[in-house]
Amino acid sequence: MQEKLNQNLIDVIERIEKARIAVDRHRIVRLVAVSKYSTQEEITALYACGQRAFGENKVQDLKAKSEILESLPLEWHFIGSLQSNKINALLSLNPFMLQSLHSLELAEQLQKRLQKENKALRTLLQVNSAKEESKSGFMPEVAQEMYCRILETCPNIKLCGLMSIGAHTDEKKMIQKSFEQTYRIFESLQNKGAKTLSMGMSEDFELAIACGSNCVRLGSVLFK
Ligand SMILES: *Cc1c(COP(=O)(O)O)cnc(C)c1O
Repeated sequence: MQEKLNQNLIDVIERIEKARIAVDRHRIVRLVAVSKYSTQEEITALYACGQRAFGENKVQDLKAKSEILESLPLEWHFIGSLQSNKINALLSLNPFMLQSLHSLELAEQLQKRLQKENKALRTLLQVNSAKEESKSGFMPEVAQEMYCRILETCPNIKLCGLMSIGAHTDEKKMIQKSFEQTYRIFESLQNKGAKTLSMGMSEDFELAIACGSNCVRLGSVLFK
């Protein structure tokens, strides 16, 4: 398993580098290994290959894995749809980042809780750029305005950029359109401190990088 994961990681990094260098030699692209379908042994094995950032989409899974692997200096990203009744559980795990801030209501509840506990949390605003009902996130038309509003009203939420899931289709043009739209919003927020643009999964990460992503979230291509 160790050898296989090591090779997967090498292959993935090579593909990321190739996509990155083709568009921008100066951009750094972060890799978050999405471990939601993986075991603690697989996470430990990938850690041994040098990977530090991992992503989970369920609070109970993040809790179980981060507690078991507590002795490793891992950086945990929460990428799932957070329900308000799980806010406390998530905050008690001190994740590195919440990538999926998907509503104003959640922002307000999060702010209250963070303020009470005197904590801050790095966060990305999730944009539903493909406007798919099955996905959460802010509609692209309101994303910029909502980003600014949260910046102003939720001081304990450290907004540092955007996250988006590409359109769910085989049509490359559609996926590209959704990435490009998110990039335009990201660009308009750079003077507000937006630094991270998290776009790209196993099936579309090279396209996402070509469209401006600087953080890819990869699961199946790494843990296959
Ligand atoms: C599962 C998941 C990923 C990784 O998906 P793969 O296709 O396995 O790379 C990335 N982002 C989010 C939000 C996910 O839920």
